[in-house]
Amino acid sequence: MSSGSAYVLVVEDEPKLSRLLADYLAAAGFEAGCVADGNAVLAEVRRRMPDLILLDLMLPGRDGLNLCRELRTFSDVPIVMVTARVEEIDRLLGLELGADDYICKPYSPREVVARVKAILRRSQRRDMPAAEAGLMIDEEGYQASWQGRRLELTPAEFRLLRTLASTPGRVFSRDQLLDHLYADHRVVTDRTVDSHIKNLRRKLEQVAPQQELIRSVYGVGYKLEL
Ligand code: CA
Repeated sequence: MSSGSAYVLVVEDEPKLSRLLADYLAAAGFEAGCVADGNAVLAEVRRRMPDLILLDLMLPGRDGLNLCRELRTFSDVPIVMVTARVEEIDRLLGLELGADDYICKPYSPREVVARVKAILRRSQRRDMPAAEAGLMIDEEGYQASWQGRRLELTPAEFRLLRTLASTPGRVFSRDQLLDHLYADHRVVTDRTVDSHIKNLRRKLEQVAPQQELIRSVYGVGYKLEL
């Protein structure tokens, strides 16, 4: 799919903002549609299925949360949730809405366009198994290899990698990663996750310096991108 053919639906009740976004998307070669009322979204999506939806959280009529849930009952269209509060993102992640990404207001339209492009690229590859991208995880042997080279990982690093690789592209909060980190529920802090991630990244980089497998998502957590 070239970006020229992709149709992005902007769900946003601030007219200035949705016009601005639509202009930027059009300039980047996308087709953009706008809906301002939460009650009108589902009918619009059913009328014409977008390739991606930018979904504002606070809307008149049905809110973004409610809409995201309902959309997921009949479509796996990529959804980017937009919220005005960074603290809100952690809560949204905990709700497991099935959104593909989260953007915090205020944002730069340029950044939004870049994210849209990245997600569309990714959604084309969504079905590609991690192994095809060069990441092998041996659950029983507690071993992993990346681009054909065995990684020397600590058990905590292995668990982090396994968790992130379970759903490439999904953003995991530090809390969610902590849940998978230790079997014995010892008391650890968010910083523990950060330091294990740092070491894990260093080991991955030694194998393939050009490829950033684990990305941090500012204020939220981490994701694995193949
Ligand atoms: Ca709004």
